[in-house]
Amino acid sequence: MTDPTLNPEEIQFRDAVRAFVKKEITPNATRWDMEERYPQALFQKLGELGWLGAAFPEDVGGSGGGSVLYALLCAELARGSAAIALGLYVHTALASAAVFHLGNDEQKARILPDALAGKTIGCWGYAEAGAGADISCVATRAIKDGDDYVLNGAKLYITNSPFADFMVIVASTEPEQGLKGMSLFLIEPGMKGVSVSKPFKKLGMGASEMAEIVFDDCRVPVANLLGPENYGFLQALKVLTLGRIASAAFGVGLGRSAMEESIDYTAGRMQAGKPVSRHQFVRFTLADMATRLEAGWQLTLHAARVADAGHPHDKEASMAKLFATETATWVCERALHLCGAQGYMRESNAQRFYRDCKVLELGEGTSEIQRETIARMLGV
Ligand SMILES: Cc1cc2nc3c(=O)[nH]c(=O)nc-3n(C[C@H](O)[C@H](O)[C@H](O)COP(=O)(O)OP(=O)(O)OC[C@H]3O[C@@H](n4cnc5c(N)ncnc54)[C@H](O)[C@@H]3O)c2cc1C
Repeated sequence: MTDPTLNPEEIQFRDAVRAFVKKEITPNATRWDMEERYPQALFQKLGELGWLGAAFPEDVGGSGGGSVLYALLCAELARGSAAIALGLYVHTALASAAVFHLGNDEQKARILPDALAGKTIGCWGYAEAGAGADISCVATRAIKDGDDYVLNGAKLYITNSPFADFMVIVASTEPEQGLKGMSLFLIEPGMKGVSVSKPFKKLGMGASEMAEIVFDDCRVPVANLLGPENYGFLQALKVLTLGRIASAAFGVGLGRSAMEESIDYTAGRMQAGKPVSRHQFVRFTLADMATRLEAGWQLTLHAARVADAGHPHDKEASMAKLFATETATWVCERALHLCGAQGYMRESNAQRFYRDCKVLELGEGTSEIQRETIARMLGV
């Protein structure tokens, strides 16, 4: 797929990531998926290339690119492995971005250079047993005690937590205030009272690792509060729109790989005296895949360009995330269908894409939550 709207710098960046993915990720993606282990060394490689800092300014250790380059990075990584892209996105668009947007100068200087160089890995912990789509239900409690906050509670389904060097955790500092009583905390090595469970078994995204984090009287210095007390989480929700653009880009990248897999298989598979791809139903399905993916990519690119121009982009990011991730689910399901029994086998890419796609509709605000956001902006 070519994109005539990309400028020469964006094309060069995309092609460099594409070549890296082809060499370093695609050949290993199935093995990593089956081994259910994240190849952590990749973080350092991506950091050395300057790509972890693609969306961050140079003064904090980034490479000053912006949302468009970041979307290109996510889309290309997801073509090789959505699970690898997921680990990178949680580290950059959530954990590191929260420190960048809400941290003070000292916190930024302490965390970001190593994080964007891939020397440390971050996770973002919001979800809990009782807090999913409804973000006001966070029960993890932080009570101020002298120069510390004392954290108690548990975070569920936290990507990268089995190997994270730093954690950005949402906790309630004033429960009766709901969303207006939640704060963000930076958890760092050496803090006592933090334990991480064994990685969970999942349907898809095999190579990404997630677990539960339990806080048992964990003392966190006041200096590790990120942003203002009580308003930290609300502010984070306003500024972490990069995550929705990233999720949209994953959907497009994953969907493109699924479409390419279908094109290759149906072109080589002879039935009724001709390649399967010559049958009209198959040709029309492939045409619909390409059309929907193109629409998803243009929505993603538009949201990223609006963000880079410094304009509000909440609606654009939600529309891109909603459309591109639902498109990915549709494309990956159709791709598995077109690849027949061969696609259903455990070693095939088609079944991996099919298992990986669904979570894109759940994380970073489910499709229903995106629709709520868009409807609210329509004034309805
Ligand atoms: C692979 C994976 C990785 C994850 N990584 C992280 C991570 O790193 N950090 C983190 O904090 N969390 C993570 N999560 C958790 C994720 O944030 C939650 O899955 C997400 O917030 C949705 O919550 P839930 O799954 O509890 O769904 P629920 O809240 O139980 O929702 C169930 C269904 O009800 C629908 N629903 C709920 N409320 C409404 C409503 N008001 N209107 C209409 N429909 C509604 C939802 O859309 C959904 O379809 C991860 C999850 C997965 C599967």
